[in-house]
Amino acid sequence: MSYAKVCCIGLVGVEGHLVEVEVDIAPGLPGVTLTGLPDTALNEARDRVRAAIVNSGEEWPNRRLTVNLLPATLPKRGSAFDLAIAAGILACAGELPPVGLDGVAILGELGLDGAVRPIRGVLPMVAAAARAGLTRAVVPLQNADEATVVPGVDVRAVDTLQRLIGFVRGTDTLLPPPGLPQPPLPPAPDLADVAGQPVGRRAIEVAAAGGHHLALIGPPGAGKTMLAERLPSVLPELDDLAALEVTAVHSIAGMLPPGGRLLRRPPFQAPHHTASLASLVGGGSGIARPGALSLAHRGVLFLDEAPEFASRVLDSLRQPLESGRVTLNRTGGTTEYPTRVQLIIAANPCPCAKPAGDSACECTPLARRRYLGRLSGPLLDRIDLRVRLHAMRAADLVGVDQPREGSTAVAARVAQARAAAAVRWSPQGWRTNAEVPGAALRRPPWQLPAADIGRLQTALDRGALTARGFDRTLRLAWTISDLDGLDRPGAGEVAEASQLRAGEHG
Ligand SMILES: [Zn+2]
Repeated sequence: MSYAKVCCIGLVGVEGHLVEVEVDIAPGLPGVTLTGLPDTALNEARDRVRAAIVNSGEEWPNRRLTVNLLPATLPKRGSAFDLAIAAGILACAGELPPVGLDGVAILGELGLDGAVRPIRGVLPMVAAAARAGLTRAVVPLQNADEATVVPGVDVRAVDTLQRLIGFVRGTDTLLPPPGLPQPPLPPAPDLADVAGQPVGRRAIEVAAAGGHHLALIGPPGAGKTMLAERLPSVLPELDDLAALEVTAVHSIAGMLPPGGRLLRRPPFQAPHHTASLASLVGGGSGIARPGALSLAHRGVLFLDEAPEFASRVLDSLRQPLESGRVTLNRTGGTTEYPTRVQLIIAANPCPCAKPAGDSACECTPLARRRYLGRLSGPLLDRIDLRVRLHAMRAADLVGVDQPREGSTAVAARVAQARAAAAVRWSPQGWRTNAEVPGAALRRPPWQLPAADIGRLQTALDRGALTARGFDRTLRLAWTISDLDGLDRPGAGEVAEASQLRAGEHG
């Protein structure tokens, strides 16, 4: 036999695509030609595959080998094709029975000694195999549990090339997924831990209910981080589709815990302000790694001390926040990752970060304005909810031993408010109040009566409120109304919405 074909999966962003590995052996000078847009790693596959075959005790066909990866137009990156190429070469050389690997997705990197090494992105690869109609997959042992998350695919594991060869020849068996015990999820931080801070707690609840981005401005010790970490605990659990998306991104990043399960909890990512652009938005060589922005997809991205981030880093967030995806340009094509995140930024009111009113703080009003000014502009424009927090005072701690409302109770109100918003906006294609364009809220049937928004109108006319600020207040008022179980916001909800945006005026 001088021709063989086996199946593999290539990843472009989080999307897997069926790749056929064709091998042809012809008489001529010994050598291997790889075609089909291979990148550097794939070219190295040639040497790895050859060494792995020889070190597995097999004969290397000393003829002219052509390995073609189809479709040629699909960019192919990484080392996940090794195992399929090796199997294709052996089948083509007549060393393996021709039918043994029909309809099987073969995934894995080879070591020079013939060991099968784990790869990143097995979950989206096996999901793509299922979509392409393949019902069986052979994956590296270390990735097998993760692969079993995909329904409808019989997943088998290999630790060595030899085992795969033995299986096809009928002399060995593939391994079942190990089914490692899943480490228990660490308990999510709970709102019950937050003492005082009624404004901060309310801001978290409103942000969760309306899907609003949130800015927390306050001195050290005001509990900004503590509040931000608790937003995921009041967000709804991820549904099947969202969970698969989130788990796929973490699979590509190689960050899934052992044991293989869907991530159901909205993720929380808090990159440090010294984080590189690549670690925030994604990048790196080979398969571009998702950054914190994509690891927070369907969850929360928290930027603490936001004014300390380099401005080009903050600027790089603007477009992905708008479009819900980030495009990474690489040699040989682009990679896209999803970035539908809820953003929380936190900032001290001044650069010295000493408590306000502390005699040690000598920052001038101008220095304070400049400091927060670093945040202004396009990024801040997208943040509906801007809250000023105060340092905890002794008075806040009175009654701290009383039971405080926990995340479960808040999450129940959030879920009910989100359901109301979804019903209202679904004909227009929006799900949360944060997605609703301001213009829609200023027109019938959603326009509010003048009696209820009179003070906002006045502030707008006097120039004390910008048009965007006006729209943001309306969005928040609708969320508060949903939380209160009302049909539409009244003067009280509009007033509270204005208060929750007090940070803008300060
Ligand atoms: Zn200061």
